[in-house]
Amino acid sequence: MNIHEYQAKEVLARYGVAVPAGKVAFSPEEAEQAARDLGGDIFVVKAQIHAGGRGKGGGVKLAKSVGEVRELAEKMIGMNLVTHQTGPEGKEVHCVLVAEGVDIARELYLGIVLDRSVSKLVVMASTEGGVEIEKVAEETPEKIHKEYIEPAVGLSAYNARRIAFKLGLEGAQIKHATKFIMALYKAFVNSDASLAEINPLVVTGSGEVLALDAKIGFDDNALYRHPDIAAMRDIHEEDPLEVKASEHHLNYIKLDGNVGCMVNGAGLAMGTMDIIKLAGGQPANFLDVGGGANVETVRNGFEIILSDPNVKAVLVNIFGGIVRCDRVAKGIIEAAKSIDIKVPLVVRLAGTNAEEAAVLLNESGMNFDVATSLQEAAQKVVAKIK
Ligand code: ADP
Ligand code: MG
Repeated sequence: MNIHEYQAKEVLARYGVAVPAGKVAFSPEEAEQAARDLGGDIFVVKAQIHAGGRGKGGGVKLAKSVGEVRELAEKMIGMNLVTHQTGPEGKEVHCVLVAEGVDIARELYLGIVLDRSVSKLVVMASTEGGVEIEKVAEETPEKIHKEYIEPAVGLSAYNARRIAFKLGLEGAQIKHATKFIMALYKAFVNSDASLAEINPLVVTGSGEVLALDAKIGFDDNALYRHPDIAAMRDIHEEDPLEVKASEHHLNYIKLDGNVGCMVNGAGLAMGTMDIIKLAGGQPANFLDVGGGANVETVRNGFEIILSDPNVKAVLVNIFGGIVRCDRVAKGIIEAAKSIDIKVPLVVRLAGTNAEEAAVLLNESGMNFDVATSLQEAAQKVVAKIK
């Protein structure tokens, strides 16, 4: 799960990570009040969306008065912000962060991710902050320092100081940066994060080290341990079909193709997508309906798959292990009666009571195309589209 910058800063501040003072606002009035509360004479108004590149896209603006903060908030709240990370459709801005304007001397990069290949967290640091780190990684990878952390030991002051030296920091900045990096690591581990990115990490004119921007992603499987973080979820930021699917406990991920897939089990779902591609088609989604495919799950699955206008045919591929195929077949027939399925439907049920299931489907009087092997199913569904 991802959260907004203002929320990430709130989480980080709990662990002692230095962030500029700021307040979230959902209306121009709130933005004006936030600026009054902050005080000072230079502010930054920042659109809150789950995407980076806001600065270049016009979502980060400097204001020199409380009135200007209000005007900027008026423009930003409700606007559709397009950045290189949102895709051309952009994202609607629902709130802004009003922050104190910071006197920036240097913009650096600091991130923590899990490197699965070595089963360790890696802290990445670069002097090239404020720009796209992907570009730095591609064009000048030597400018990214990687500090691998021994899981049994954790991040030590030694690791943190070495990162600070690599960033070219000096004097008191090293002390500030060491404290910052150690606090960020603690925040990461204690909140079960899977990614933390501070871009830019800034050194101010007076030598302070601050997180000017913050992005954190959390491990969904550990969210039950953090109800306060789970409550930060913003469903506006998620694909509406994926939200609906998760409400029904279905694992759905929308893709770009036109063959809708309804499958039980993640492994079989992956295999089904592969074989559709092999047959020359493109899957429109990944959908794992779970072990107990019943009328309810099958109906919800159809509704979600068919809400995608790109879907031109559907392949149902269910293995009857935990669930019996005849029960699934009844579920499909029931579901097909209650929703109007306008696209061709190919069904392959294998496993317990598969023969009974085929008879039920064939005698239902409905327009199902029954296949027995996975290959046959994939070829049939792709042929429907062509
Ligand atoms: P994004 O990564 O989405 O573009 P950032 O939060 O990194 O958004 O902001 C983009 C740029 O805006 C920063 O690199 C920095 O130069 C400037 N900026 C952001 N917040 C502040 C602030 N509080 N004070 C001064 N400048 C800021
Ligand atoms: Mg940034």
